[in-house]
Amino acid sequence: MVWSIDKEKCLRCGACVSVCPFIALNMNEHGLKNDKEKCTLCGICQRICPVAAIKVEK
Ligand code: SF4
Ligand code: SF4
Repeated sequence: MVWSIDKEKCLRCGACVSVCPFIALNMNEHGLKNDKEKCTLCGICQRICPVAAIKVEK
């Protein structure tokens, strides 16, 4: 079970942060961070990302 981000692709638009129902995503100066304790691997962030930078594998 893995959540991963392609930092080269990410535009830091924040769309994924806004849609995560479990508040598992945070954006800081180093980019996007996923909180493994909160993430349920629901895949919503993956579907909303305009550049397919997020990969969720169950
Ligand atoms: S997979 Fe679901 S729970 Fe995990 S960061 Fe994305 S939207 Fe949030
Ligand atoms: S939606 Fe995609 S491009 Fe936007 S911040 Fe999230 S991972 Fe980056």
